[in-house]
Amino acid sequence: MSEEYHYDLVIVGGGPAGSSAAFTAAKKGVKVALLEKENTIAETVRTSGVTWIQNIKEFGIPDDCFNPIKNFSFCSPNNEVTISDSIPRAAVLDVRKTYRWLANEAKQTGADIFVKMNVNGVLKNEKGDIVGVNATGPNGRAVFHSKIVIDASGFTSTVCKAMGHVTQWKRFGAGAEYEVKAEHVDSETWWLMVGQKYSPAGYAWIFPLGNNMARIGVGVGKPESNVDPTQRLKELIENKVGPIRKLGEITPIEFHYGLIPNDGLSRKTVFNNLILVGDSAGQANPLVLEGIRYAIKFGRVAGKIAADAIKSGKTDRDSLYPYEENWRKEIETKINSASKVQNRWIGLTDEEWDKELDTIKELKSEEFIDFIKADFGLASMIKLATHHPKLVVRQLFSLVKRKN
Ligand SMILES: Cc1cc2nc3c(=O)[nH]c(=O)nc-3n(C[C@H](O)[C@H](O)[C@H](O)COP(=O)(O)OP(=O)(O)OC[C@H]3O[C@@H](n4cnc5c(N)ncnc54)[C@H](O)[C@@H]3O)c2cc1C
Repeated sequence: MSEEYHYDLVIVGGGPAGSSAAFTAAKKGVKVALLEKENTIAETVRTSGVTWIQNIKEFGIPDDCFNPIKNFSFCSPNNEVTISDSIPRAAVLDVRKTYRWLANEAKQTGADIFVKMNVNGVLKNEKGDIVGVNATGPNGRAVFHSKIVIDASGFTSTVCKAMGHVTQWKRFGAGAEYEVKAEHVDSETWWLMVGQKYSPAGYAWIFPLGNNMARIGVGVGKPESNVDPTQRLKELIENKVGPIRKLGEITPIEFHYGLIPNDGLSRKTVFNNLILVGDSAGQANPLVLEGIRYAIKFGRVAGKIAADAIKSGKTDRDSLYPYEENWRKEIETKINSASKVQNRWIGLTDEEWDKELDTIKELKSEEFIDFIKADFGLASMIKLATHHPKLVVRQLFSLVKRKN
């Protein structure tokens, strides 16, 4: 025997994308189920949680969910730069608190949240289109029928894989980090560490959380490097390499590990009765591999468009296409530009990184944030070219503007 449920919209995955989709869909009055396989929302943290205060404010995330950052320090093997600002523009999220706040918003608005509900198959109609999912829950087998399914299952892309629409991501980032208590943490300054000793294809980081807490991590690009990020992280902490030494005594509190797609925007994200959002859609900024703000923003768009489609009675690919149009318009060219910079960064030697930091040094805080956020809008590009007659900066930005 299995439990049978009937919903307008089923969302698989209670991460930021899924909760945000559930929130806007429920707000439009459709019947929504959000399915999460873990025991609680954000039981396992798989992210370092850096994002931008402007986005946090847009989303309405409360102030007690993040630690503000106003100094951005970079180091390469033989160079160091700090870009400082008078106001904080970046933030390190309390990931559990934020993700639970997002899920609670969905719940308050009327979405039903099922935890311990592991989705492991799809229901199809006679045309082969998705009409629900199979799952294993606390009481055994469960079947969820729905008009639309949103795949917000993250890197694993459970639903679209089960539909045969996609295969595993080929290019991705693997990251390991310890949340630690440390003797000396400057709560307003983050560190990004580049070069072979930190990560041969990626970077290491120190992201402060306030109260002498920080996340120290290593991200490695796959398949470019076969370095194990966990092993490298342990070595960096044990040997107190670079700015890790400044932290003094370190006590690890919690270990985090995760994978993030880095295949560009290669996937179609709408099919009949199905939408992909967040990491399952590959919506990540390749420069620093951040995707939380996209997951929330396009999760909200996906929920709204799914609800409108359900109300109109038309849930085919064409009716859901405005969702894909929306996010492509907003981020496709930016992500493509950022991929070019990332491809260049992946090939840099230690000496070249030392020089690259001299280029970064030229940027003002706002420009640096635009850059690292992959916010390569025409206006900011023109402003940059005018403010920075220096050839190195111009070269970097002409790379961004180049067609291929
Ligand atoms: C090491 C690392 C560091 C990162 N650092 C940052 C950062 O600093 N800033 C930033 O913006 N981004 C960062 N990211 C990326 C960011 O974490 C993701 O882009 C973001 O979490 C995507 O949200 P999502 O909701 O799409 O997926 P996820 O957050 O992965 O959520 C997916 C949810 O679906 C659930 N799920 C999966 N399969 C099933 C199933 N079969 N049935 C039911 N539920 C299921 C999971 O348990 C999970 O709760 C990092 C990623 C990694 C790996």
